[in-house]
Order: sequence, then C-alpha cells, then structure tokens
Amino acid sequence: MSVLLLFICVYINNLNITISEMNNLTTFFKVFPYNILLFVCLVSGTNGVYSQSAPKEYMTTDIQDLALIYQGGVHRLDWTVDQIQPYVVHQYADGRKDWLFDGFLFLEFKDGKGYGYGSRYDKNDARKTEWLWLLDRIFEEGKSLSALDQCIENQIKEIGKPDFKHKVVIGLPEALPGQKDWGEINGKKMDFSKEEDQIQATYWYIDLLMKRFKKEKYKHLDLAGFYWVSEDVETCKDLTIPLGKYIRSLDKKFYWIPYWQAKGFERWKELGFDIAYQQPNHFFSASVPDKRLEDACMSAHEHNMGMEFEFDEKALYDAKESSYNRLKAYIDYFEKNNVFEESAITYYSGFSGFLDMAKSTNPKDHAIMDRLAKLIIDRRGRYKNLLENKTKVIAHRGFWKTQGSAQNSIAALVKADSIRCYGTEFDVWLASDDKLVLNHDDVYDGHKIETTSSEVLRTLRLSNGETMPMLEAFLDRAKKLKIKLILELKPHSSPERETKAVELILNMVKKKGLTKRVEYISFSRHAIKEFVRLAPSNTPVLYLGQDISPKELFEMKATGADYNYWAYHKNPLWLQELKDLKMISNVWTVNNPQEMLWCIRRGFDLLTTDEPVIFQRLKKK
Ligand code: MG
Repeated sequence: MSVLLLFICVYINNLNITISEMNNLTTFFKVFPYNILLFVCLVSGTNGVYSQSAPKEYMTTDIQDLALIYQGGVHRLDWTVDQIQPYVVHQYADGRKDWLFDGFLFLEFKDGKGYGYGSRYDKNDARKTEWLWLLDRIFEEGKSLSALDQCIENQIKEIGKPDFKHKVVIGLPEALPGQKDWGEINGKKMDFSKEEDQIQATYWYIDLLMKRFKKEKYKHLDLAGFYWVSEDVETCKDLTIPLGKYIRSLDKKFYWIPYWQAKGFERWKELGFDIAYQQPNHFFSASVPDKRLEDACMSAHEHNMGMEFEFDEKALYDAKESSYNRLKAYIDYFEKNNVFEESAITYYSGFSGFLDMAKSTNPKDHAIMDRLAKLIIDRRGRYKNLLENKTKVIAHRGFWKTQGSAQNSIAALVKADSIRCYGTEFDVWLASDDKLVLNHDDVYDGHKIETTSSEVLRTLRLSNGETMPMLEAFLDRAKKLKIKLILELKPHSSPERETKAVELILNMVKKKGLTKRVEYISFSRHAIKEFVRLAPSNTPVLYLGQDISPKELFEMKATGADYNYWAYHKNPLWLQELKDLKMISNVWTVNNPQEMLWCIRRGFDLLTTDEPVIFQRLKKK
C-alpha cells in the first residue's frame, strides 16, 4: 500500500496538482483513468531514462522528401518534363493533384560507356573528360534540371504555387585514389594518389557546377547541396571531411546514403556530412526478412540519421515475381516507427519506379501510390513545424534539475534565464498575513501555507539552502533578467482569498514595472476570471484544467489554454480550436523527447518542461 501511495504522490506531483486539489476525489477520479498511462510510464521509469540520456532521434533537414533521380549515363532515362512529372505532382486515383517531392537528387555512378564515377562501378575510372560530359548531361536543355524547372512551371499554372521551393542535390564524382590519368587543372596533372589533388579536382567540379547552375537561372529550383556517390568509406577514407567543410563554406549541404551496415556509416557526422540516410536494403531480396525494416529504423534512430524508402519496377503488382508486398512493408514499418512523423526521407525507386507506377493500368498500383503520396503530402505541415520549431520553452518551477537549484527558488529563476528559456514557471500562494510566497504544495515542512504567516514561511529552507522566496524578492531579482515570468496562482480556500491574491499580485507586478513580462496561469476558474477582469488588456491568462474547452475559455476572455499533454490527446481537436480562435497554446509537463517532438510537430506555442535542456537540444538540430 505504501508503495502505491508513493507512486500516487509522484504521479500527482508530476501532474502539477497539489494534494489539496486532489482532496476533491471526484476531480481526481475524473482525470485519473486516462492519465493512468502517464502513471504507468512513471512507474516503469520511462521519464527517468529519458532525463538521463541524450535523446535518440531521426535526422531532419530542410528537404522533407528527397527523390533519387538516376540521371546522366547513356543507359538512363532522359528525364523529360513528362517523365519527371509523377515525381513533381501526384495524381490520385480520383483525379485530384498535389505537389509531391520537395527535393530531387540527381546522381550517377557510371556513364554507361565504360567509365565509373565511384570506386568499382565500372571497368575504367572516369576522367576529367567524363566528369565534364556528366556536367553537360545534368544541364542539358529540356532534360533533367531544365525539365524539372519547366514541369514545376507547368504545374503551377494548373494547381497553383506550392508553399515551398523545390530543392536539388547533385551527386559528386569521386576522385579515385591512385588514379593518374584523370587530366589537368590549370596545367597541373592531377595525381589522385595525393589527397590534395583529389580535393583540388573535387573543388574544381563543385565550383564549375555552381557556376553553371547560376547561369541557368532556374525559376523554381534551389541548389541545396551535393551528394557523395560512394556508399561506404572503403576507398575514400576521410576525403569527405575537407569536402564537407568546403561545401558548407558555400552555404550548401553535404548528403550521404550509406548502404546497410556500410563501413563508416555510424561516423557520418565526423566524416563531414550534414545528413546521412539509412538504407534498409530490404526490398531487393526476398531472403531479407521484414524485421530488417524495424532494425533499420532503430539504427537510424540510434545514429541520428534520416531513412531511405526503397522500391523499384518489381513493385508493380503485375511484375514477374512481384515485390508489391515488400513495398507495402516499407510503408507499414515506416508508419509504425514514426518515420513519416519524425524523419527526413529519401526515395530510391530504381530507374523509374514512380513513373512506372503512374503509368500502370492496375488499380492496385494506384492504390498503394495514393497511400504513399498521401503520407508525404499530409506530413508537410507537421514536418515544417518540426523543422521551424517555433515552440518556446518554459522551465517548470524554474530550471531546478541542476546543481545549486531547487523548485520555485530564486536560483531556479536565474538559471532558467541563463539557459535562455522563454519563460520560467512558479507557484504562488497568499500567506495568512496577505504576503505572497512561492511554493508548489499547500503544505511545506508541516506548515500550511495559507494559514501560516510569511514571517515563519520566509525562514523555511529549500533543498538548495535558499529560504522560501517571497514574491517581492523574486520579482526584484527577475527585474535584472530577461525571462518571462509564468505565475501560477494556486487554488485557495475561498474565492475571496483568490481575488485578494490577484489584486496584490497585479499591483506588485505593476509597481515593479514587470507588467509586460508576467503571464498568469491557474487551475482555479475564479482566479482566471479575476485575472481577466483586473489585469491590463492583452495580458496572457491561461487556464490549466481540462474541464473547460478552448471555446468556453474564449468566451471567458482567457487568452489561451495550458492543458496537460494527455488532455490534448484526449481532445485531438483542441489545439486546432485554440489556433482558430487565435489563442495561446501551452502544454505541460512534457519531459520526454518523443513527446516534445509530438508537440513541436503540431506547432504548440509554448511547452512547459522539467527538462528545458533536452528541449533545447532538440531545437538545435
Ligand atoms: Mg505550477
């Protein structure tokens, strides 16, 4: 029984609800059943694990869905406007059209005439002549880049402008170690047994490519960066490190898609790449079990990589020994492992997978492509939120999970400001002598706050050695800082006491010149009404309980809602309702990185957490 009580106490503590509030058992059991999940999480220690280790997550970049276009060699498609169209827009079975990929990777391994652009791809190593030939192919009028630009132009006329700019990434040929017949740059014969020559030739190619791209003046394309064609580091070793540095100096990114368990894949950051995508290599061989997809997702998560989606012409339902079900497995596993929710994705589709699917006369092919396209199209807004991450962080009871700090202490205020949180949350009570003090629970060290004089309360020690702060001293210290102050007024024993507290708080805040920096939250309906009635107009006032809907809060003239994480799950329309009503959305108390990502993706305005540092780490991606 005592163990159960301990769990319930921990549970209540995390819910930001005091024991006295929970004295109202009706309220407790009203919120209890669906919050039991959180309770179970706490018991199983999930939060504890997350709070101690760095978050594992998929990688995102400014391209959401990057289609691989094999282009250049004489054995490839020309990629005319018509051929590239199914990659630019998706046409559903019912005729509707929408923009599909936001990124296009043009890459080539060999010229189809005996020369390879990476190690072991053909019998001869491509020379300067073949590198220049490839460049001409990339910029050929009416094909590849030029066709893509034209295709976008045509589609804009039909379905209107997309809310993103299409980006292109272009593959770099590898200056192969040991090659001596490549050719000359500025009269100097290149010797690729020397790393400096490998680097010089690659820089030369990058510069030339950028010059050509600029000259073409494509209306709808941005050059996002370059792709490393070799899928392991067997031959190139550390060559990519200086190349990555150079590419970033040009304000471009360096992309890589190593094969499953490729040499060096886990060192992708160290090797100079900005993003690497995990190839599952599942589609191509019936002997690879579906579990590989699960393993690949886990590996990407573990190593902070994006994911590659793979299929080819064999996925057609009517293909000989069709791999249709293997394509379906990718969608299923990517959904199950949150890849569409959280990761940047590349799409390998063989020579012309999407084109073949679009041309297919079998409705099964259209059905599966409709499903995939819908996932890509629907995730666009959420991915944008994830990328932009406009959600601002509030340190719950200050930044207290750090040395020398304590919940609701002045140290926690100063420390939250020092790590640049948007706001610091703290709890306020009215003591028996009408002085305002900071504390979470209604009782501290055996003293009931409401019925104890501030003379006594101000002598009580917090865990960091500070004494219990008076609101006045807290605000005086805050005046020297920049952080927003998120003041929670605790529910008191009577409406009169709450009104008194609201009046005293607003007067003090005004006197200190902090009116524009303080925002108010409470579980008490009455306190919310009083803040709305007495605070200057436009002062943020947010209700914490889940028993009032956004619409009702709007009618009460509250400026927003600060519901708990599970309330938004239970009421999936509430966030959108808040947005539609132009109200502020805050969510508490989100300590787990996956739950933080859930909130960021949905574009919450504010997120309250005991783990502001974990949140900020997510933000730095
Ligand atoms: Mg609080």
